Amino acid sequence: MSVIEYDVIIIGAGVAGLTAGAWLSGQGLKVALVTAGEPTACLSTGCIDVCAKSDDPLQGIAHLPNDHPFHLVSSGTIRQALDDFQQIMAAMDMPYTGGLENNRRVLSAIGTFKTTCLTPVTMQASPQNGNERIHIITFAGLKDFYPGYIISRFKNASFSTYDAGVSTTMGIAANFEDDAFLEAFILWLEKQHNREDKIAVPAVLGLESAAAIIKQIEYRLERPVFEIPTIPPSMPGRRLFNGLKDHFRRKGGMIYWGWPVVGVEKTGRQIEAVMAQSQGRPNSLNARAFILATGSFVGGGLEAKRDTIVEKVFHLPVFVPGEREAWFDQDYFSMNHGIGRAGIAVDSSFRPTDCLWDNIFVCGAILAHTEALKNGCGHGFAIATGQAAAKSCLEHIQ
Ligand SMILES: Cc1cc2nc3c(=O)[nH]c(=O)nc-3n(C[C@H](O)[C@H](O)[C@H](O)COP(=O)(O)OP(=O)(O)OC[C@H]3O[C@@H](n4cnc5c(N)ncnc54)[C@H](O)[C@@H]3O)c2cc1C
Repeated sequence: MSVIEYDVIIIGAGVAGLTAGAWLSGQGLKVALVTAGEPTACLSTGCIDVCAKSDDPLQGIAHLPNDHPFHLVSSGTIRQALDDFQQIMAAMDMPYTGGLENNRRVLSAIGTFKTTCLTPVTMQASPQNGNERIHIITFAGLKDFYPGYIISRFKNASFSTYDAGVSTTMGIAANFEDDAFLEAFILWLEKQHNREDKIAVPAVLGLESAAAIIKQIEYRLERPVFEIPTIPPSMPGRRLFNGLKDHFRRKGGMIYWGWPVVGVEKTGRQIEAVMAQSQGRPNSLNARAFILATGSFVGGGLEAKRDTIVEKVFHLPVFVPGEREAWFDQDYFSMNHGIGRAGIAVDSSFRPTDCLWDNIFVCGAILAHTEALKNGCGHGFAIATGQAAAKSCLEHIQ
């Protein structure tokens, strides 16, 4: 069995874990991130929801229920964390627009509007109402995009179809990284002689270079072009993940990919190491402190048993919202399923309450009462709590 020593080990490669890891690496610490696999960011639109409860995201946070963990993060840290995020993504050539002053709307693949705070620059020109004149481009055989639904909600919209030779979001996006493919697409678009004010394209404009690709198309067509996020698998979500992951590595962080944590070693009130499984053999990863960022049920951090809910790495106490009957609303599509509030309760330094160990910190969607989808506070909350938990962790080990 191999033994490797770090200052901090982060468990989970979601937006929360990657934010915490990059911040701590930036402070000069030796940081490793160990993850079972990809995060929920890869399923997302790539837009950063901070709080969709009000037009002003900070006002929205102020009105969240008293037990919401967003109240543990100062507005200064929220601002700083989101500013840092925008700088990171700009440096990775995947810039974001927007700010904490106002939420904005982004057109979805079924023609509805999503409220969010920061958007990839490729969605900057997304219409803010159904009156705008848009021409939608779709791709032959693409299943994750519904121009018919969008047109039914827009008075002034039309669409045309391009044959990219492949029909998956990933396949088309890979094609767009090729200059000859892009040029052929632009020539075809020019020949369409569309008259609408804006051109809409499903979010397939490149794996990593979407910002540059869209600029080139806009330059040639002389009008705004914007991406519409598709249903998962989502290219903008994947770009977000890749941008944060590459930034963490550039900061000197180490990633153990595909290594689920399956056990822990402890002495007294300290966790000494986590045991991660790789290629059939366990590895002991030692550190002075640990940050748990394994997400909620979708991420794999929580598991619902018959009558209880468990946290899978450290077996921390979980806030369970009553008896099993109270976990689910009668309405399947309700945003009020009690189970959405399950998670780890923490104190003001992001340490789990009633915990037997002093060197564990928790951030992101695994925190109790988060209800990311109900409150529209997904990645923004993960970024803010990621930085806040990292700051507390640094204070602890210094
Ligand atoms: C379908 C969907 C769409 C969404 N769309 C948006 C959106 O458009 N905008 C937005 O802001 N928010 C969105 N959200 C919410 C957002 O994705 C999350 O709230 C947020 O990103 C959570 O990040 P996280 O880092 O806390 O956890 P996660 O993203 O869940 O990451 C958890 C990580 O922990 C790892 N892990 C789990 N268990 C272990 C283990 N035992 N050992 C090692 N690693 C482990 C996982 O492999 C994963 O890498 C969406 C969520 C879903 C489910």
